[in-house]
This record gives sequence, structure tokens and C-alpha cells, in this order.
Amino acid sequence: MTNFRIGIDFGGSKIEIAAVPPKGRPWLRRRVPTPASYPAAIAAIMNLVRNVETRIGAKPSVGVCVPGRTDQATGLVRSRNCLDGRPLRRDLCNALEREVRVANDGNCFALSEAVDGAGRGARVVFGAVLGTGCSAGVVVDGRLLIGRNGLAGEWAHIPFPFDPPHEPPARRCWCGRLGCLETVISGTALAVDCDGPGARGAAAVAERAAAGDRPAQAALDRHVRSLARALAGVINLLDPDVIVLGGGMSNMDHLYARLPALIAQHVFGNVCATPVRRPVHGDSSGVRGAAWLWPGEPEPAGAVPCPAAEPSPRMGAQRQPRRDRRPRS
Ligand SMILES: [Zn+2]
Repeated sequence: MTNFRIGIDFGGSKIEIAAVPPKGRPWLRRRVPTPASYPAAIAAIMNLVRNVETRIGAKPSVGVCVPGRTDQATGLVRSRNCLDGRPLRRDLCNALEREVRVANDGNCFALSEAVDGAGRGARVVFGAVLGTGCSAGVVVDGRLLIGRNGLAGEWAHIPFPFDPPHEPPARRCWCGRLGCLETVISGTALAVDCDGPGARGAAAVAERAAAGDRPAQAALDRHVRSLARALAGVINLLDPDVIVLGGGMSNMDHLYARLPALIAQHVFGNVCATPVRRPVHGDSSGVRGAAWLWPGEPEPAGAVPCPAAEPSPRMGAQRQPRRDRRPRS
């Protein structure tokens, strides 16, 4: 029997599960709509896992990709969906009667591409997901870097290096801080820069630019220059062997053509050989990265043990007041 891992991608509109073999494509992929309530979501995950286990005749490891981060101290998830304020990992450990690992979408993307994607063979991989919002992850020697506070890869909320005489004032981020990278380099930020507050269609901006629309071309130019400055900071700090872009904006060809030279203008020494690559696995990064949270090695650096299984008469009773105004990408 193949040594499968189970990967689950908990998205805003669907939950996807797959059995991921050591090599090859994810298997037994199945999607169900994301329930509105937390108990229903736990039940949906249990049913999906049981179904896969029946098909493969084994009880494999389970990893879960979620659009939000888990507080290392409390174990509670911060997200805009029904997981917000809930102890997801503890409840899944109890429900599935095994250790379960949980990571956000940026981390799962980076891990998926590092294992056998665009970052395969590289020691240090920085994966950046650029979509409605943005998120990122760092993988070192095939293992996800989590960090003392669980914040490794929280690139989106680093302050953008504004150049005040030439740029508009910083915007307030959904996290509450001013001028986070996400407010400048995400797809939403591109759309707002081009079309004003409330705009959300980054793909439409790119289409108009390709058709010759001057304002759209200027917005794309400002965006790629800003993204280059944001990535130059990553290189000065981490100097990864490869940068892989994911999310909807990773389809934009001009990023790969322009970023290397623009990044070099902002790194220390003005020379940069870091490749910026397209993703290999696309929409599969959630289930693949979640599955690879179990590499068959020791816990990822900085990981905390799974809470002890215990009776949970009311799953997620420790719900906390919501602090977020909108979810991560
Ligand atoms: Zn922020």
C-alpha cells in the first residue's frame, strides 16, 4: 500500500481533500461546500477523512490548510470564516483521534512548491501568494519554518518601504496597522490604485493594460516596482535560493520579465541572482502543502505539540471576539 498522506484545503467556499502519494498526483480528490457553522465544518472534515480512509484502507497523517493563522499560545484560529476564534487543531485531533497539523495558505503553497515544484532542490524557498490579499511561507531544507511566535512568513504585514515624496499616503491594513505590504502589492491593492476605493479586479487591470489602456499600464508599472521593493527586503533578510509566486497574480507574465532587474535595484549591493519562478502546482497547493506538513521527519521548526485529546462537549467553546476586518488571501 502506498504511503499516502491526507491533505485538506479549507477554503472560503469549499473544502477539498486528497490522498497525496510520495510521488505523483493527489488522488481521491473530493470537494464539498464549506459549511456556515463550525461544528458542521468539523463534521464535514471527519466525513471526508473517513471516506478516503475507507478507500485506501489505512489511517494516514492529516494536514489542513486554512486561510488564517493559528495563535501559538492559545491554539485559536484567526480567520474571517467559521474557524475564527476556534481551536481547530485541538478539535480535529480529538475528532480524528490522531495528531493533526494546520498551516495557512502561504505556508502550504511554499511547502508544496519546495517539495517537488518550482523550488525543488533548493535549500531555501520563499513562496509568495498574491491574490485578493497576500501571504507567504519559508521552507528550509524541505521543512516549513514556523518560528517562535508562529509568524515566519508573515511577509504581508511587514511595513512597506514607502518613499513619501513620490507615493500616496499609506493605507490602513485589515490587520489594523498602517501601510502593510498587503495594502500595496496584493491584487486588491493594484485594483484600488488603478480604479479607486472599492475596486477589486486585478485581472481586469491587466487585461486593460494589454489592450493599451494607459492608466492601467501605469498602475501595473507602479505595482511591479513596489513588489520588487518588497521582495528585495526578503532577499536582504533571508536570501532564498528561489522565489516562487502563487495566487491569481502569478499568471501575469510581466512580473517574471521585470522583477529580477527591478529587485536588483533595491537589494544591498545592487546585484541579485535570485530566480523568480511561476508555480508548478497551481490550485493544488492547498491539499499538497497540507499533506506535506507531514514529511516523515521531526516536527517543523517551531511547531508546538498537538494538544492532548480530551472530551470536547462543545467544540470551540472558547470563541474569542473577532479582531479581523477581512481574511488573509
Ligand atoms: Zn497588515
